Amino acid sequence: MQGRTDKTQAEQAEDPGFYIRRPFLLQLPVYFACFAGMKILDVLIVGAGPIGLACGIAAQKAGLRYTIVEKGTLVNSLYRYPANMTFFSTSEKLEIGGVPFVSNNAKPTRAEALEYYRRVAETFAVDLKLYEKVENIEPVTSGGYRIDTDKGRYQAQYIILATGFYDIPNVLGIPGEELPKVTHYYAEPHPYYRQKVVVVGANNSAVDAALETWRKGAQVTMVVREPEIGRRVKYWVRPDIVNRIEEGSIQAFFNSTLEEVRPGKVDVRTPEGLITLENDFVIAATGYQPNFKFLQQLGITLTDDGKYYPTYDPETQESNRPGIYLAGVICGGMDTHVWFIENSRVHADRIINAILKKTKVAD
Ligand SMILES: Cc1cc2nc3c(=O)[nH]c(=O)nc-3n(C[C@H](O)[C@H](O)[C@H](O)COP(=O)(O)OP(=O)(O)OC[C@H]3O[C@@H](n4cnc5c(N)ncnc54)[C@H](O)[C@@H]3O)c2cc1C
Repeated sequence: MQGRTDKTQAEQAEDPGFYIRRPFLLQLPVYFACFAGMKILDVLIVGAGPIGLACGIAAQKAGLRYTIVEKGTLVNSLYRYPANMTFFSTSEKLEIGGVPFVSNNAKPTRAEALEYYRRVAETFAVDLKLYEKVENIEPVTSGGYRIDTDKGRYQAQYIILATGFYDIPNVLGIPGEELPKVTHYYAEPHPYYRQKVVVVGANNSAVDAALETWRKGAQVTMVVREPEIGRRVKYWVRPDIVNRIEEGSIQAFFNSTLEEVRPGKVDVRTPEGLITLENDFVIAATGYQPNFKFLQQLGITLTDDGKYYPTYDPETQESNRPGIYLAGVICGGMDTHVWFIENSRVHADRIINAILKKTKVAD
C-alpha cells in the first residue's frame, strides 16, 4: 500500500489514512504546515470530559501523536454539577486508564471525582489544551482534517468528538424563561433558603434539587409532566421523594406543565386547570442535549425521528465522516441517559484500536 498515488484528491480527502501512508515527497504539504506553525497530529480529541480523557490516555499508550482540546477546565461538565452531588456509580466504575479510584464511600462525590480525574491527567501527563474552543473542522486535500480553535490551528489525521451534552439545556420554551430567577443549572441549596422554589422535572437532577433545597429551608413545589416521579431515579432516593410528597412536605403537581414565569409568580397548567403560584425561583431540571448543529456542520448525519441519533459504526465508533469518531454521551442523541461514564469509557480503546488497525493496514 505504501506509496500509492493513484487516488483522486476527493478520494484522498475522504480517506484519512492516506496521509499516514504517503511517501516522503507527498508528505511535503504536511512539513510546510509544520513550518507554518501548525501542529500536526495523528489524533485530535475534542472535549476533556472523562471519556475524552480516556481517549487521550489510550492514544498515548498506543504511541500516537495526540492532543485534547477542551473549551473549559478539565472535566468541565463534572465541575459544573451540583456542588454536593454524589455519583450513582461506585468509584471503580468511573475509573479510566487503569488508575484506581478510591473514595470515602462506595459512591464518590463530585469533589472526589474532580480530584481523581486531575490525578489521572497528572499520572499520564496528558497533553491538554484547556480553555480553548474548537470552532471548525474541515477536511484537507492532503488527508485528515484541519481544526480551527479560538486560539490556533491544528491538523490531525483523525478526530474524536467527545463533546458531551451538558452545555445545551432542553429549554421549556415558555414566556419568562429568560428571567434571572430561572436556572437550568442547579448548583447548591443555600441561595434558596426561605424561598418559594418551583422544580420542573421528575428525574434524578430534579429530585436531588427538590430534596436538597427543601432540607435547607426552601418551600418546594414540583411541576411534573408525567403522572409520577421518574422510574430512573436512584433506587435509594426515590422512596425519599415519594414520601416527602405523600406527607405534604414537598408539593407536587403531576400531569402538569409550567406555562409562564413572571416576577414573583408562575402559572401552572394542571389537570384541574390553570393555577398561579407565588414564586421566587424556578429550577428547570429538564435535561440537556448534545450540540447537534456542530455534528451536522461536520457532515455527521442524524436520525430524523426527534432523537437525533448520530450515525456511527458501533464496532469502531467511526461516524459516517471517515476518520471522525464519536465517544461518550454524544452517541446517544436526545437519549442522554443511554451512555454515561460507566458504559462509554470502553469507547476509548475501541476507537484507538480501530485507528491502529487502519494505520496497520496501510503499512
Ligand atoms: C448530576 C449528574 C450525575 C451523574 N452521575 C453519573 C454517575 O454516577 N455515573 C456515570 O457513569 N455517569 C453519570 N453522569 C453522566 C456523566 O457525567 C456523563 O455521561 C459524562 O460526563 C459523559 O462524559 P463525556 O466525556 O462524554 O462528556 P462530558 O463530561 O460532558 O465532557 C464533554 C467535554 O467537552 C467539552 N466541549 C464541548 N464542546 C467543545 C468544543 N467545541 N471545544 C472544546 N471542548 C468542548 C465540554 O466543555 C466538556 O468538558 C451524571 C450526570 C449528571 C448530570
